Amino acid sequence: MSFGHVAIIGLGLLGGSIGLAVAEHLPGVGTTGYDADPAVRTRAAERGLAQRICATAAEAVADADLVILCVPVGAMGEAAREMAAALKPGAVVSDVGSSKKTVARVLAEALPGHTIIPAHPVAGTEHSGPDAGFATLFHNRWCILTPVDGVTCADTERLSEFWALLGARVEVMSAQHHDLVLAVTSHIPHLIAYTIVGTASDLEEVTQGEVIKYSAGGFRDFTRIAASDPIMWRDIFLSNRDAVLEMLSRFSADLEELRGAIAAGDGQALFDAFTRTRAIRRSIIEMGQDDARPDFGRSDHNGG
Ligand code: NAP
Repeated sequence: MSFGHVAIIGLGLLGGSIGLAVAEHLPGVGTTGYDADPAVRTRAAERGLAQRICATAAEAVADADLVILCVPVGAMGEAAREMAAALKPGAVVSDVGSSKKTVARVLAEALPGHTIIPAHPVAGTEHSGPDAGFATLFHNRWCILTPVDGVTCADTERLSEFWALLGARVEVMSAQHHDLVLAVTSHIPHLIAYTIVGTASDLEEVTQGEVIKYSAGGFRDFTRIAASDPIMWRDIFLSNRDAVLEMLSRFSADLEELRGAIAAGDGQALFDAFTRTRAIRRSIIEMGQDDARPDFGRSDHNGG
């Protein structure tokens, strides 16, 4: 492993999981951690999320040759500016933000002349905070790297190796392509979940008690996604606005088509659409990205 010291800024689900995963898989690598919230720093120290928890971002990054920003997308610029002056020459700066084009621009503005390789481990749960992290979060999950212009292949390779050693599968692509893919695989599904759970709780003719009682009919699977952190998701929709709006238009058109088929009593159209989607579910299970068990293996911390 070519990084000897990793600094983690933001010690919630993602930052904490990285710290615990480094301790488990890369015991020779030093870790420091910083979080803006003093209560989070205290809890992070108790859980051992990094070897040393620092009182400032500058102190945390001073010896690091890899710095990973694990803060909400909207806080990336502020977090980067806070540590900029203390970065070691040649240190690689990365992040775990769920959108990449905006983050790449913000980091480039805040850290001119530094080596920046934005990244997104496509792994998570609906939980957040310093108690949420666990060492196996990245096992068999994809981590997408979106290196900015001018970054060497050697540095990208070093970061790929780091993520692979934490158990992830690594792919490199442009930030623009990442944002389009994630808009449809993650951001729109979250928007749909937030909408349907909101709609159900606002209904007048169906009580909340009934919604909860009969939730196994499908609703409860949306509630897991709709329980995700509101700050994180607000920031994702604001930072990936263009790709989300593009995919939302396509989704609305498809939804309208299904609505039309229901209105017209066109059973064949409904059957064809639903058959196509079953095949996608099978492919996800075959690729090891979910579990065929009725609880999706979530009791084993297999969330995504
Ligand atoms: P989290 O559990 O809420 O942790 C984020 C932590 O960063 C919080 O403790 C927060 O403190 C702290 N923070 C905010 N601004 C800061 C700053 N300027 N300097 C230092 N610390 C700061 O969030 P998370 O789920 O780990 O998400 C972190 C990042 O990972 C986000 O960019 C998200 O898009 C990305 N991501 C999340 C998932 C997921 O499923 N959760 C998956 C993949 C990627 P406060 O609470 O006091 O603000």
